[in-house]
Amino acid sequence: MSSLQEVAQLLRATQSPITVIGHTNPDGDTLGSTLAFGLGLQKMGKKVTMLNIDGVPEIYRFLPESDRIVIPEATHFLNRVVVCVDCSDPKRAGDEVIPWLARAGTVINIDHHISNEFFGTVNLVDSEAASAGLIIMELLKELGVMIDPDIATCLYVSLVTDTGSFRYSNTSPRAHQAAAELLSTGLDQDVVNRELYEEVPLTSLRLIQAGLDNLQLSPCGKVAWMTFNRQVMESLNAKDEHLEGVVNYAKSIKGVEVGILFRESGEQLIKISFRSKSTVNVSDLAAKFGGGGHVRAAGCRYRVTLAEAVENVVAAALEAVLETK
Ligand code: 5GP
Ligand code: MN
Repeated sequence: MSSLQEVAQLLRATQSPITVIGHTNPDGDTLGSTLAFGLGLQKMGKKVTMLNIDGVPEIYRFLPESDRIVIPEATHFLNRVVVCVDCSDPKRAGDEVIPWLARAGTVINIDHHISNEFFGTVNLVDSEAASAGLIIMELLKELGVMIDPDIATCLYVSLVTDTGSFRYSNTSPRAHQAAAELLSTGLDQDVVNRELYEEVPLTSLRLIQAGLDNLQLSPCGKVAWMTFNRQVMESLNAKDEHLEGVVNYAKSIKGVEVGILFRESGEQLIKISFRSKSTVNVSDLAAKFGGGGHVRAAGCRYRVTLAEAVENVVAAALEAVLETK
């Protein structure tokens, strides 16, 4: 593990362009962290490339300079300093990216997942940080970068989205202190709130409708799940980004401990999201199926049919509920 000071020193000494990349199916934290760090490094006079394998979903295009984020290519990695943000393992940056990452000069792994695999040449991992953006903020301060309203907006969005608007258990005094500091830069909080919560695409609401329609509850009432097969996604012309946050509807039911969302990505490829309320460690649960994440929010990709995924994963969730009773 490296310290904030060591990573700052390494970045200060870097003369060549720096690449910053986030995770697939990007959320507010990974995009906010990528942009905040990229813009901050740029203020230091560094040449920066910002990447995401899935580009920027429409709902996050309001983030300052979001059009700077481009699709990765091999040349963005060769012999460069590559910073991975909010990625617990190299696969999270995208399957195509793994061989390119192997040819980077230095990989700096900046993350807050408890399941982080310390895959970097240098690793700055803090699972106590509410969002990856919080670590980025501390690193920018260490580097002496002034946090302007644009950078602050990106960091604030990272915090708001990963803490569920300061509701989840990762909402610490440190997170609130950072939020206060960011707000004091003069960022436009109304724009952030409106863009995140008052401009929800109709497609997302139609998906919630479809999900509630097939919502299932285990007989014990502790596990609830929804499924989204390819027909539903295609008929609504929906993308993964429209499912962001939908799993919370399953978790929010009175008495439920674990909420699960199953999304059929391919015939034998199911993307699964897990959320828990207070006892089950869903990072461990997701790890049983090759994934990971946080104690209260995790995910995986599972190569079976939708029906098999539901059967096996719900059984494992019920087991986890029993074990933690
Ligand atoms: P979501 O359910 O919103 O896609 O992801 C919830 C959390 O689990 C995020 O912190 C995310 O990084 C992590 N996560 C989601 N999918 C995967 C996966 O396939 N592998 C791993 N290791 N983590 C995942
Ligand atoms: Mn995150």
